[in-house]
Amino acid sequence: MSRNELFMVSPINAILEGLYETPMTFAELKEHGDFGIGTFNDLDGEMVMLDGRAYHLDVDGSAREVADHEKTPFAAACFFRPFSVEETGPLTDSKKFLNLLDICLPSPNMLYALRIDGDFAQVHTRSVPRTRNHTPLVEATALQKERKFDRITGTLVGFYTPKFMPSVNVPGYHFHFIDQDFQCGGHLLGCRLNHGRLSLQICNQLLLNLPMTLDYLGVDFTRNAAQDIEKAER
Ligand code: ZN
Repeated sequence: MSRNELFMVSPINAILEGLYETPMTFAELKEHGDFGIGTFNDLDGEMVMLDGRAYHLDVDGSAREVADHEKTPFAAACFFRPFSVEETGPLTDSKKFLNLLDICLPSPNMLYALRIDGDFAQVHTRSVPRTRNHTPLVEATALQKERKFDRITGTLVGFYTPKFMPSVNVPGYHFHFIDQDFQCGGHLLGCRLNHGRLSLQICNQLLLNLPMTLDYLGVDFTRNAAQDIEKAER
């Protein structure tokens, strides 16, 4: 396996259609990475994997470690080996944060894994509630719960995906946050960073798993993926 391969459990299209069941266990996912984000079967919360350990971020924002037999319908993962590490000072709003990331990426046409360890003035997250299979993602995220964590130290785990592949993965940046004690977190909606360390890895190869499930084999992909992602993930 390439050192810079990004692995995906399924294309984001399948999640947009509400296909929240696959047989992929976390034991299998960990064969493809020690770093990643995603969700659980039945869209049961947000997932973050850091240094080889996976955590479940529940709808109330609380975190617990995931057992290897649990399953995921959607996750992106890689073996995190950053090629650059940079310290960054205060970034007082989400726009400045995203601008800095844009400056750090050598090209918008690559996949990247990004890790930011930092002290945050605020982290704004959401988590999705457990949702019945076949419920479109935009309907599920309408019931998401948001949280704001003030003065918190922790890690953002995420990926950048080029804009030309919106049916494969969330285009642009997609981060999940977990605090340094692994007690709380969620899908990132915004943040204010006091100071942090940004680690960056280029992923120039993608291994896309297509789920061999009846749901997936029979689905008709007719949605506008880019539009649904904008509604569901931002
Ligand atoms: Zn997410």
